[in-house]
Amino acid sequence: MIDTHVHLYDQAFNADRHEVVSRAREAGVRCSILPAIDKSTYQAQQDCLKQYPDFCHKAAGLHPTSVREDYREELGFAFHNTDGAVAIGEIGLDAYWSRDFLELQILAFEEQIGWARDLDLPLIIHSRSSFPELLRSLKRCSSPYMRGVLHAWSGSGEIFREANRYGRFMMGIGGVVTFRNARLAETVRNTDLTDIVLETDAPWLSPVPFRGKRNESSYLTYIAEKIAQEKQISMEKVVSQTTQNTLSLFFNKKT
Ligand SMILES: [Zn+2]
Repeated sequence: MIDTHVHLYDQAFNADRHEVVSRAREAGVRCSILPAIDKSTYQAQQDCLKQYPDFCHKAAGLHPTSVREDYREELGFAFHNTDGAVAIGEIGLDAYWSRDFLELQILAFEEQIGWARDLDLPLIIHSRSSFPELLRSLKRCSSPYMRGVLHAWSGSGEIFREANRYGRFMMGIGGVVTFRNARLAETVRNTDLTDIVLETDAPWLSPVPFRGKRNESSYLTYIAEKIAQEKQISMEKVVSQTTQNTLSLFFNKKT
């Protein structure tokens, strides 16, 4: 398995990061992608990449909730750190807490989609309470090269399919799929396995039975198991197909 979205550099892991990485490896997680947030988390992300060079891959970008009046400066900083990145992210739109900076978020998002096109990299997209705006941006920036993951997907299959008219996107599925009453389980049932990649978004969004506690990459097994259950297929099939999807999306590899 590959954890396509984990904030392993978060301070929640400062006390036991080595153990967290060993548990992940023992659980069958071969590597992970660390999405960027902003300038304030850059050094921690960098340290983590250096410490686990064969386990962690880098993404570069500016997170939508970090877009404020000074976003030009943040964007400049993020752009200069795209060296060695396997993706541009996490970028996107978040109107959940406030719509105050949504216009700036849209500008920052579309600019970063342009970087991904120029650098031929996939996108890691965060979209919360902003699906109409997301679809408008994807439509405006649509190109044959646009591809990526719609991370922590919370939308419908219909919105997902519409996004796929403008680029090639996978659905990032994490702990939320295990929550009771989650509409997401039904969306996953009706989505092709070839369109799904696994992620934890650790330290947040722990799957059942760890809901509310700190999340970590080793819990990817609970997510894969739940997807297998929903789709009534074997866990091996889920693991092999989602890994193959991740390799071809982020690492240009066929397995
Ligand atoms: Zn994230």
